[in-house]
Amino acid sequence: MRWPATNGEPVCPRCDCAACYTFQVRRLFKCKACAHQFTVTSGTILASRKLPVQTYLLAIAIFVNAVKGVSALQLGRDLDVQYKTAFVLAHKLRETMAANQNGTAKGEVEIDGCYIGGSIRQENRKEDRKDRRLAKNQTGKRRVVVVMRERGGRTLPFVVRSEDEAVPVIRRRVEAGSTVYADEASSWDALHARYETKRINHSFAFSDNGACTNMAESFFSGLRRAEYGQHYRISGHYLAFYAGEMAWREDMRRVDNGNQLRRVGMGALAFGRSRNWRGYWQRAAG
Ligand SMILES: [Zn+2]
Repeated sequence: MRWPATNGEPVCPRCDCAACYTFQVRRLFKCKACAHQFTVTSGTILASRKLPVQTYLLAIAIFVNAVKGVSALQLGRDLDVQYKTAFVLAHKLRETMAANQNGTAKGEVEIDGCYIGGSIRQENRKEDRKDRRLAKNQTGKRRVVVVMRERGGRTLPFVVRSEDEAVPVIRRRVEAGSTVYADEASSWDALHARYETKRINHSFAFSDNGACTNMAESFFSGLRRAEYGQHYRISGHYLAFYAGEMAWREDMRRVDNGNQLRRVGMGALAFGRSRNWRGYWQRAAG
């Protein structure tokens, strides 16, 4: 998985030299050119690991098998590691999955938004309770996941504060000449100028003559199930990673789990070190 180009023969991560010494007693390599010592995970998202490689492979297997995602607490129990270890590991896997759900969409593209996070805890007594619909009572942490889903193609989500903010992103990431499908929300009116746009008013029908956003809704259904059934709460801060993870699962739903494991494994090893998650707890402590 680490060195597919050389058929599994080690390549120095520092100078790309393929001539390396191996060691009898440790699973370690040393570059003949620059003398850099490295292991199979050096320079990858799993660098500086403390656990055996087998544990990471098991973690990936558990992670890809969980259709609705897996919480850090549950992953920690399965792997017999601390919650904090599982939290960062799960997020690293999520980040590698999300990295695949980038780029532009074309063809027939369904667009829709789904609001997540920023829930308001209710007071005990009725007279103290707030009207959660009012703007002044909102936490400001609510975010909207907008998805661009190609019919018969890829699922590309991104996170913004409102559907209005999504329009410039869609203009940039949905290629000209595409047909866009959207619901009746007025934010999407702005898309008519650039794309052939077909709208569906959900208060009358879910699908009319091919105009529907059912594929986009299907993605949100998966995301909601991950939120309600597994994580309970998803913070707006990491929402993009969760959305990317669920989009990856949606796109890989017909791929068998052996190949899913291989894809995430190779993705993690090709990713490079994570800016978001490397040394996360050391930073949090400092
Ligand atoms: Zn080297």
